[in-house]
Amino acid sequence: MSVVGWTRIGELCTADPAAGEGPLGILRDAAVVAVDGRVAWVGPSSDFPDVDVAHDMAGAAMLPGFVDAHMHPVFAGDRAVEFDSRMTGTPYSAGGIRTTVAATRAASDEALAANAARLAAEALRQGTTTLEAKSGYGLTVHDEARSLIAARTVTDETTFLGAHVVPAEFADRPDDYVDLVCGEMLDACAPHARWADVFIERGAFDVDQARRMLEAAETKGLGLRVHANQLTQGDGVQLAVEMGAASVDHCTHLSDDDIEALAGSRTVATLVPGAEFSTRSTYAPARRLWDAGVTVAIASDCNPGSSYTTSMPLMVALAVREMGLSPAEAVWAATAGGGMSLRRDDIGVIAPGRRADLISLDAPSHVHLAYRPGVPLVSGVWRAADRLV
Ligand SMILES: [Zn+2]
Repeated sequence: MSVVGWTRIGELCTADPAAGEGPLGILRDAAVVAVDGRVAWVGPSSDFPDVDVAHDMAGAAMLPGFVDAHMHPVFAGDRAVEFDSRMTGTPYSAGGIRTTVAATRAASDEALAANAARLAAEALRQGTTTLEAKSGYGLTVHDEARSLIAARTVTDETTFLGAHVVPAEFADRPDDYVDLVCGEMLDACAPHARWADVFIERGAFDVDQARRMLEAAETKGLGLRVHANQLTQGDGVQLAVEMGAASVDHCTHLSDDDIEALAGSRTVATLVPGAEFSTRSTYAPARRLWDAGVTVAIASDCNPGSSYTTSMPLMVALAVREMGLSPAEAVWAATAGGGMSLRRDDIGVIAPGRRADLISLDAPSHVHLAYRPGVPLVSGVWRAADRLV
């Protein structure tokens, strides 16, 4: 049995509102004990018991490891040229994905896994202890399956996104591509994926095509996620709610009916402010969603086209400064919210029974994540009580 403890935590953000103050359930001068990688006890430093390995936090803030529930880390090449042109006046459209598709198809399995590992390591250094990883830049049976095999090397939360965009060779017959996704591609990919995702958008897939692909994936036992309402208000959010998707992501352009549907559902709205930041677009209405009672997560959307960042501290800062969440709400969305987006009850919160995924800050409070944007404040990262950073 291995007993690890952290004591003299100046501000412990449990992310369990029932455990302490505010949405983050904050405890002061607190301590945590983990047994065999799981949290066994949370309490005041004055009651800290004997442990095998003790970490004296000397007043630093600690919070759950970030849960980044929306990443696209399996690809090759980059799109710095596209970014540069966009920053000088060319609007973004979903078709840019095809540039990355060509590079990904040409890359070796080893190169794809190495890129995912590089980005996962980058995310870990910034406090991400759980990440989701999508395919979606292969768009052939073979390239989607090997993308998921590469994703599996960095996480169990793998998502089949053959329905990212219609590849160029199917441009004049998109329904044939939908048939391929629902049939042979899904058969090859389902064994390597926990989730399936569909990009519902002009330039990608419509709601009828999405419904067919999501129903096929569900039949194969995959959980459902949806990219929707990123560039335009459409019926994607309604479809996600109707089908019981775990998460509907982006949610930038929402009607009142969309918000009402989300509020009455178990579907998490996973917001990706990095995409809006990197495309100079309007931000999702996080404040309205939160106030309506929608479960909100924030994620990086790490991808080479519209959000080439792995930084969850940056997402917290953007959610606060650009989307109107309080620092406590933003950190909750980046931890507990991400866990709920992945339908996980073992991560995202510091409470007895949960996996001991904790991070420490070189700061006395979680507020500093938004107050000091761009500063590398994450000073320690533990997954299942093992120190990784
Ligand atoms: Zn995405």
